[in-house]
Amino acid sequence: MTFEDSLQLVAEEIAKCTKCTLHYSRKLSVPGEGPPDSDIMLIGEGPGFHENEQGRPFVGAAGNFLEELLTSIGLQRSQVFIANVVKCRPPGNRDPHPDELSACSMYLERQIQVINPRVIVTLGRYSMLHFLPNAKISKIHGQAVQVRGRLIVAMYHPAAALHQRSLKPTIEADFAKIPELITRADTLPEYQDAPPLDKEDPKQLSLF
Ligand code: URA
Ligand code: SF4
Repeated sequence: MTFEDSLQLVAEEIAKCTKCTLHYSRKLSVPGEGPPDSDIMLIGEGPGFHENEQGRPFVGAAGNFLEELLTSIGLQRSQVFIANVVKCRPPGNRDPHPDELSACSMYLERQIQVINPRVIVTLGRYSMLHFLPNAKISKIHGQAVQVRGRLIVAMYHPAAALHQRSLKPTIEADFAKIPELITRADTLPEYQDAPPLDKEDPKQLSLF
């Protein structure tokens, strides 16, 4: 089975998944999209209105801003894999609940195992918490933590900058650091036989 086939299989399971109540509000599931061998994964929170209509991640206003941010560091959207921590739209765009996040996390882990990215950019608090429980986004945004040979870089959510303009320069400055972080990621040993990324030891976060 190719990496593409494996991702397709995950997407098919997501499309018929009923593991949490979010399947009731789903029109189209949003598994994520991008090259199956991408070095970089960007992980947001969950589908909003437009994503639910189109079955694609980050296609609304936050998506436009995300594309601008990527362009500013010389990356095209098509070069990165973009996904979310929950694959179906929370009603009214509310925050995902803990039971929904834990029901859905296995799909994200499977995608990460297949894609095996060197860098994971988390967009927003819920995505960050998937990798770094107990971290505070106000403290670690724009910084990278190594988790089993990957660089996890925490960013504010692009939608946050649209709601709170004062965050815009912060997100722009944080994105500007990504190329250097990718260079660092390239010096890491090859990641072998990826097991699921377990919850991190909170002690690691005392670095910050
Ligand atoms: N669109 C997405 O796909 N994810 C988000 O977190 C926000 C908008
Ligand atoms: Fe399944 Fe995730 Fe959708 Fe919940 S959000 S129904 S766990 S795919």
